[in-house]
Amino acid sequence: MANIGYIQVVRHCNHFCGFCSNPSSAYHHTFETMARLVDDLVDRGYFGVVLTGGEPTLHPELPRIAAHARSRGLHVRMITNGWRLSDPDFARELAEAGLELVHVSIYSVRPDVEERIRGVPDTLDRAHEALANAGRFGIEANVNCVINRLNADHLDENVRVLVERHPHVRHFVWNNLDPSMGRAEVNQDQFTPRLADFELSLARALRFLQKGGRTFRVERVPLCYMTDFAWASTETRKIVKGEERVVHFLDAKQTVRQTDWEHVYTEACRPCSLRNICGGLFDRGQAYDPEELAPVFVPMDPIVERIISDPADPSYPLRSLADWRPDFERRVEEARQAPPRPKDEPPRDPSAPPVGLVTEESLRRFTRSRAADERRAARSNVELEPLGVQTPEEG
Ligand code: SF4
Repeated sequence: MANIGYIQVVRHCNHFCGFCSNPSSAYHHTFETMARLVDDLVDRGYFGVVLTGGEPTLHPELPRIAAHARSRGLHVRMITNGWRLSDPDFARELAEAGLELVHVSIYSVRPDVEERIRGVPDTLDRAHEALANAGRFGIEANVNCVINRLNADHLDENVRVLVERHPHVRHFVWNNLDPSMGRAEVNQDQFTPRLADFELSLARALRFLQKGGRTFRVERVPLCYMTDFAWASTETRKIVKGEERVVHFLDAKQTVRQTDWEHVYTEACRPCSLRNICGGLFDRGQAYDPEELAPVFVPMDPIVERIISDPADPSYPLRSLADWRPDFERRVEEARQAPPRPKDEPPRDPSAPPVGLVTEESLRRFTRSRAADERRAARSNVELEPLGVQTPEEG
């Protein structure tokens, strides 16, 4: 199956988003520590790797690790704010190293909103340039967007502008804000949307993309807020296909293996026809309101059929409902019998290699980076997340 692993190659960033869930840490990676994690994904039989951060383009060995991952047979992807990728020479270098797919994150096509979220001026033009450069050098380009309170009402405007300006972008990804970590947690009031805030603009955006032949995925949105597009839910697709995801966090969390996608279900979920394939409400930050959930009564099978017969994932073996159902029921039963995991405890994978290093130099960098972040927080009028050095012993 098409399992994808994530490697945070750095944790510092040249932007200062008020809802960053992975802010600076005292850890750093060398080429060797990253290569060990790439090799670990290969050993697990994973299909691809996403190089992420922080801002991954700030790691001097990024092209080299992309080349290594490609040489080991992984599909190589990156999530970036696009600032450095707006330099054509750098974009060419990454393309030649083997980068195949880039997710450029753009939260709003309104420059004032984008600047307010990113805490840095003039980022939007650079992100547009990054998308253009990806097209120029043959890197497939997607757009990633974190749904938050400031863009919730114009997700449809975003896609209309982006599709018109970058017709080569064929795929869009939305992540509803994770309010449980980092800066997002201490700035919940400013950035966490209500589900109802984006319901309409998300539906309009998805309809527009579908009509134009684009594809999309949506993460951390309960299916009752995207019923017509339930097949596009990242959690639902993984629940249906039994996929997992490994994230190599460059901090004390280290490696987290996500195999179940259960968030919060309420009384409203009991009669819901999609309960078995819905990820529920992502409420680990207690920022979303469970009262916003409402059961739906649509048939589940057509959604499952669409996911398991998707030609974009030919590796999935159970292509009919008759083949899929016994496997799914077995997995549901296993999950039911598994001992409950303590709430808020990530499913850390102790079998993975160590993630990154804490050295005197990385501690000095962390101290400098925190001082800069304090100044940026004051300028942006957001709270800075409380953070210790976070060594493995503390984690
Ligand atoms: S009511 Fe619950 S199970 Fe049903 S779609 Fe909403 S969150 Fe999912």
